[in-house]
Amino acid sequence: MVRGGTRPLYKLYEVTQDGKLVRKSRFCPVCGEGYFMADHGDRYYCGRCHHTIFKTAEAPKPSPARARRR
Ligand SMILES: [Zn+2]
Repeated sequence: MVRGGTRPLYKLYEVTQDGKLVRKSRFCPVCGEGYFMADHGDRYYCGRCHHTIFKTAEAPKPSPARARRR
């Protein structure tokens, strides 16, 4: 009954009280889906390509376009 390469991905998801599906782990955008990043508290780290994602950078904030004006 053992299939090679199959992962229990459902364990990496969690349903909140709102009924939303939350990803407990994060995929590496460089390596692609399947490569999870380690949670280091304030950031995610990929042990394969050493890519780091800061959680603070995830917050969507409106960036004023005038900053790039020249
Ligand atoms: Zn990676």
